[in-house]
Amino acid sequence: MFKKYTYIILFNALLLPAVLFAIFEFSALSSNEKVIQQVYNNQLETIVFSVNQYSDDIISSWAEKINYFLTEYNNPADTLRKYLKSKVQLSNVFLWKNNKVLSLDKNIQPPKIVYIERLIKINDKQIRKNKSYLNVNYRKNEPLGTDEAQKKLYLAFWSGVNPESAQLCVMEIDISKFVKEVIAVRLQVSVEKEFYVAVFNRAANNDLVYFSEYNKTPPAFNFRKNLWLFPNYDIAVQIKKNTIEDVVKSRLLLNISLFAFIELLFVLVAVLIFRFTRKEMKLAKLKSEFISNVSHEIRTPLALINMYIETLDMGRIKPEEKVKEYYQVILQETQRLSGIVNNILNFSKLESGKTTFNFEINPVNCLVDEVLSTYNFHLKNKGFVLKTELAEDILKVKVDKRSICDVLVNLLDNAVKYSAEVKEITIRTGVKSGWVYIEVADKGIGISKENQRFIFDQFYRVTQGNLAHHAKGTGLGLSIVKYVVEAHNGKIEVDSTEGKGSIFRVLLPIKYDV
Ligand code: ADP
Repeated sequence: MFKKYTYIILFNALLLPAVLFAIFEFSALSSNEKVIQQVYNNQLETIVFSVNQYSDDIISSWAEKINYFLTEYNNPADTLRKYLKSKVQLSNVFLWKNNKVLSLDKNIQPPKIVYIERLIKINDKQIRKNKSYLNVNYRKNEPLGTDEAQKKLYLAFWSGVNPESAQLCVMEIDISKFVKEVIAVRLQVSVEKEFYVAVFNRAANNDLVYFSEYNKTPPAFNFRKNLWLFPNYDIAVQIKKNTIEDVVKSRLLLNISLFAFIELLFVLVAVLIFRFTRKEMKLAKLKSEFISNVSHEIRTPLALINMYIETLDMGRIKPEEKVKEYYQVILQETQRLSGIVNNILNFSKLESGKTTFNFEINPVNCLVDEVLSTYNFHLKNKGFVLKTELAEDILKVKVDKRSICDVLVNLLDNAVKYSAEVKEITIRTGVKSGWVYIEVADKGIGISKENQRFIFDQFYRVTQGNLAHHAKGTGLGLSIVKYVVEAHNGKIEVDSTEGKGSIFRVLLPIKYDV
């Protein structure tokens, strides 16, 4: 139940906003990128437009000049030929007179004349239409077609000032020369620093007619547009350095990794919070169990003491042994009470870091003797057999005597509490892998592997198993043991088999120098 709600709360509080934020950012990102792409495309459109416009201006200026010679000169042929020589990209001019094509250049092959006549006939409708534009002072250059073999473009325009006196002229333009000497020059001064520009011939297998970079292979152009006046020719433009696609891609990659990282961070925080909350909840539960355990632990001896004192007070108990026995019970129960209170006080002192240790060098066996001198009686009383297997007397440790004795008492208390039929406790001292050890072994109920992981936690008590369930305790004993041992730079180990018994081993650093 707790888990399910915690997951839902954590998801709603942390992950959901993060996921929503990520979705929002992604959509904003892609629309931003669309805008950038649009701006870039517009820029490319502008470049292509300016190239087309420039080509049109150049060709129009030629048409204007030819028109001028034709209208203003009585015998314009010579002047036109001279003009042709000065314009290398303009290879010839034809006139359409009495349904016949006349060439300015006399060295013309008859098939060419037939070819141009055919072009004029094919484009007849458009040519007629263009004638009417003269009324509004507009001279339109009409591309008639290209001669792919000779790379020539034919453009028709009407010379004259009105449709009535108009004369149809056809310009023959050398495409390669025009691209390389007119278009390229124009591009060089304007955009070639930042852009790759190429011209392709679509009719000839996309042949590269021109590329702005020498000795370089052109990139795969994404932006290609038709050249207005050159029906089969395309101009392609692309930014140098990083293309917008590259920029967009790398930005997208960066953003995705950033989002993934942030999401991961959120998940990590959520997991941490979840674990922390779970731990706190567990601790809170253990604490509340602890309070009820302690109350129970205190109430029972108090009730016993109360009862025995009342009985003694009434003076009805006569035999001396009986009176002694009652006093004994009262003594035992008070000792148990002070043991509980001591443990709680020790624990709170240790937890708040207020405990001070008074380290002194002590022979390890002396510590055992000290504890047993007071505890032996208790053990015998409870019907326990105590065995000791102590190491040589020279083994010494630097410890706070009172605290280590408390540790041993705690371990002995547990050995007593958690022993059933076989009441046998063994205390061993010795050296193991460079440590001095004190072992308290019992043949009691043992601890499962699963529980062994938690028994040193504060307030933790094993609640399964008959004896474990009934034995009284606060769950503080072993956590105090662990605190104290670690404060001595030592370790606490447990070897236990369920149903067979347990060995608790305190390991302390050897003190050699004495
Ligand atoms: P408690 O007050 O419950 O004895 P401890 O911290 O001393 O608290 O011990 C924690 C738990 O470890 C106990 O509840 C008990 O289940 C288990 N335990 C400790 N010592 C022994 C032992 N010698 N044999 C079996 N179980 C033990």
